[in-house]
Amino acid sequence: MGSDLHKHIDGLNAQAYLIRNASSGEAGSLAEEALRLSEEAHYKRGIGCALRTLAAARASVCLTSAYANAVKSIEILLAEGDVYEACSAYPVLFIYYANTGRTEMAYLALEKCLELATQSGNRYVEAIGAYNLGSFQLQNHEGEKARVNFRSAVSAALSIRNLTIFGLAMGELATLFADGKEEFFDYAQLMAVKEDHYGNNVGGFVCGAGHVQVLRAQFIYLMATGDRAGGVRAYRQGRQLCKSTGNTREYLRAMTSRAECFVRSGELVRAKNLLTNHVKVLKAAGHQLGEHEVLLRLANVEEQLGNFQAAYQNLMEHCRIKETLACADSEARHRELEVLYRTNQLAEQATLAKLQAESLTVVNEQLHTALERQTELQKELMRLASTDELTGAVNRRQIVNDGILEMERYRHTGAPFSVTVIDVDHFKVINDTFGHATGDEVLRRLTKCCQSLLRRFDVFGRLGGEEFCIVHHDTDMAGAIQAVNRLMKAIEVMFMADILPDRQFSVSIGIAEVHDHDASFYDVLHLADMALYEAKRAGRNTFRTAQSRTLEAA
Ligand code: GH3
Ligand code: MG
Ligand code: MG
Repeated sequence: MGSDLHKHIDGLNAQAYLIRNASSGEAGSLAEEALRLSEEAHYKRGIGCALRTLAAARASVCLTSAYANAVKSIEILLAEGDVYEACSAYPVLFIYYANTGRTEMAYLALEKCLELATQSGNRYVEAIGAYNLGSFQLQNHEGEKARVNFRSAVSAALSIRNLTIFGLAMGELATLFADGKEEFFDYAQLMAVKEDHYGNNVGGFVCGAGHVQVLRAQFIYLMATGDRAGGVRAYRQGRQLCKSTGNTREYLRAMTSRAECFVRSGELVRAKNLLTNHVKVLKAAGHQLGEHEVLLRLANVEEQLGNFQAAYQNLMEHCRIKETLACADSEARHRELEVLYRTNQLAEQATLAKLQAESLTVVNEQLHTALERQTELQKELMRLASTDELTGAVNRRQIVNDGILEMERYRHTGAPFSVTVIDVDHFKVINDTFGHATGDEVLRRLTKCCQSLLRRFDVFGRLGGEEFCIVHHDTDMAGAIQAVNRLMKAIEVMFMADILPDRQFSVSIGIAEVHDHDASFYDVLHLADMALYEAKRAGRNTFRTAQSRTLEAA
């Protein structure tokens, strides 16, 4: 339901916008209807578009309220994020500023118009904006800049096959730069498009408007290139078409162009008559905007004719109308400032949000890197804290930690574990005979040898000095003895010839299995240690078990 109504309103708005120039009265009524429906349905986009069209259709009747409507429309459409439609309201702002003597603001409005049109891909408004900018620059004696903009208008209009703007811009180019070869090419192109255009759109109003436009361009071009007869023919044809389609606006434009041609060719009286007639039509239509422009032209012509009194009167009238137009009420001024402020605010907010997002990403990345680095450092710290530097085996602290865990596991599950303590025999002699470095190397080789023989869950570590320890996971005394036998055999044949020529190398070992009466891991370790001393006492290069000691003692 809602979307059907929205579609209906969109249709009304599109239609009104399309005929806003050629049939401004009808366009105004349609836009008012669209505005009423949109307000009832709280359809913001509809309201924005209707106000835009109202502004355009009635700019020539009441510039101040047109301005206020355009401002409101821009506000609404921008807030809705509809840049495509919003940009089409800017030309009215331009007209307002241009006709109230604020050149800077007028340029600003057109620049903003073009910026938004380009940004949103609205080529129609792009064409209109470029054409207006060109015209305004021309008025301000910036011919070269104007030419560039007319060219943009031509290409934008061509891309959407809009013959009206194409004709207008081409007309200007043909008049201003008629002797360039390029322009002949463009003119030919214009004609080709014209044929194409009429071939495809027969009888429609838009077609009529486009045709009038082309005729005007043709008129301007032919007059400028010296084909006066051809030019007048085009002019008459255009005038006829304007009358039959009721296109007053285009009729007036054609009159202006014709008057300019008369002025150029020195036919000042004819120009004067045409312009006087022109002023009458505009006054009758209540078209103040056009009137004050034409009055200025008329004053110039009168001046050239030496009619200074008439020129003076025309100028005074021109100034009076301009003053009326410039007398924008304070509300409009206020809104003007407000919309500028809000537009800037929106833009600032967007920029800020973007910047914030960017800097957040950077900070996030930095944090991420820092966290990764910290995790790495922590891991490294943990490794260092649990590793013996010389041999790379786990250190005493880590053995004790693992042993305590084994003890807990034993208490909960009853699964046994055993502890083996290994001590190098006469290590002092090795140090004394071959040097401390050799002693170190012996410790490293012993570590490697033991590590390679043990299972993954067994823990081998260095208790300190030349004393090592194994925590045999899930292993009773019988299992531990098996492991130790394997170990002793390997140590016996361990390659030491390069550092200990006489191969005076052996170890003594003590083994203990955990028992119910052991209060902690330290008890088991202590029992293994006691067994080790027994092995030493028994002549070294052998092992003893804590159990055997207990049995022997018993
Ligand atoms: P025993 O057969 O009774 O165990 O005699 P031992 O010489 O091996 O025992 P003792 O405790 O008298 O000597 C151990 C020597 O180990 C003394 C010490 O200087 C040496 N030592 C301790 N830590 C290191 C080390 O990291 N590197 C080297 N090269 N020697 C060490
Ligand atoms: Mg020793
Ligand atoms: Mg020792």
